[in-house]
Amino acid sequence: MLCIRRATVLTPEVQIDNGVLLIEHGRILAIGDDASIAAPARAEVIDAGGLLVTPGFIDLQLNGAFGDDFTLTPDAIWRVAAGLPRWGVTSFLPTIITSPLQQVAQAQETLASGAPAGWQGSIPLGLHCEGPFLNPQKKGAHNPAHLRLPTVADVAAWSPETHVRLVTLAPELPGALALVHALTERGIVVSAGHSMATYREAKAGFAAGIRYGTHLFNAMPSLEHRAPGLPGALLSDAALTIGIIPDGIHVHPSMVALAWAAKGPHRLTVVTDAMAALGMAPGSYKIADQEVIVTEHSQGVHEARLASGTLAGSVLAMDEALRRLIMYTGCNLSDALTTITATPASLLGIDHERGRLRAGAWADLVFLTPTLEVARTIVAGVTCYQAD
Ligand code: ZN
Repeated sequence: MLCIRRATVLTPEVQIDNGVLLIEHGRILAIGDDASIAAPARAEVIDAGGLLVTPGFIDLQLNGAFGDDFTLTPDAIWRVAAGLPRWGVTSFLPTIITSPLQQVAQAQETLASGAPAGWQGSIPLGLHCEGPFLNPQKKGAHNPAHLRLPTVADVAAWSPETHVRLVTLAPELPGALALVHALTERGIVVSAGHSMATYREAKAGFAAGIRYGTHLFNAMPSLEHRAPGLPGALLSDAALTIGIIPDGIHVHPSMVALAWAAKGPHRLTVVTDAMAALGMAPGSYKIADQEVIVTEHSQGVHEARLASGTLAGSVLAMDEALRRLIMYTGCNLSDALTTITATPASLLGIDHERGRLRAGAWADLVFLTPTLEVARTIVAGVTCYQAD
């Protein structure tokens, strides 16, 4: 048994000063303050020294890191996942962008065969398939040669049981609504993105089962007061959750604040959409089969672009994303944490065991310093990262 004591616990609903967590078999056995919980004599004790202890961060959109791109090299998932705890990420959706469908099948196999012996790291919860059923007019950094029209036959092998959790598609494409129905019935979360959908087309997609919007404002029509389009539909429909990339490059900080005002902590998820250059120096990288140039950016976060200038994912780490959300919106820490813990877990239907600190949940924890730097990350009760 593991006992964490002297923790300032943010659950994130309540704060517990002098908090104690008991952990057994990777899960939280009990949580409370030191007056209510005593450490059993046999427990290994970790003294949190008053640091903030929060649920582990969940990233719904990550293309790769440490030089590896998941679409190009699906078997890199476990290797990359082992390094993610340094940014507080304890679970994530490896994202496969538009490519031959064989790349998705390979990624499914990588997850199905499980982690290598002795592996520790951030848990891949299943794939986010971003494409190939996207609108060519909003292709972003996706290779148009691999875009396809939606057909249910193409996704016969996609389900949560075969490790597909989230699918981004353009709801206005012919055949898209039938695909939304089919995927939703299997328990896959369907998202609208890389889309030219009008307001009416977006709402038809929501009625068919779409519950999420991929990187709000990026790869969709601009918000326009007489033609609200997909962004207007996502912002104004209280049932829809959105992802947003707060790196200061993808979206102007004031538009992050606008999204925050419209959606709040329970309908906004911060995603990194980070690519292979995360954790690496500027230089030349790949996203799927396309070349990406990564350069220094004046805002302190690097930027990744195709030779054409199109943004090709971010080089944003999740702890930096947390700090920037607070900087851009003025929200409090508890609400900011909700967007990378409870809200993504709830979207995926796993908030009974991830994204919250409660008895029975996985012991996925982040220790944060007062300046919100990651000091320690624990996944299923095992320390996977500790700062020097
Ligand atoms: Zn995208």
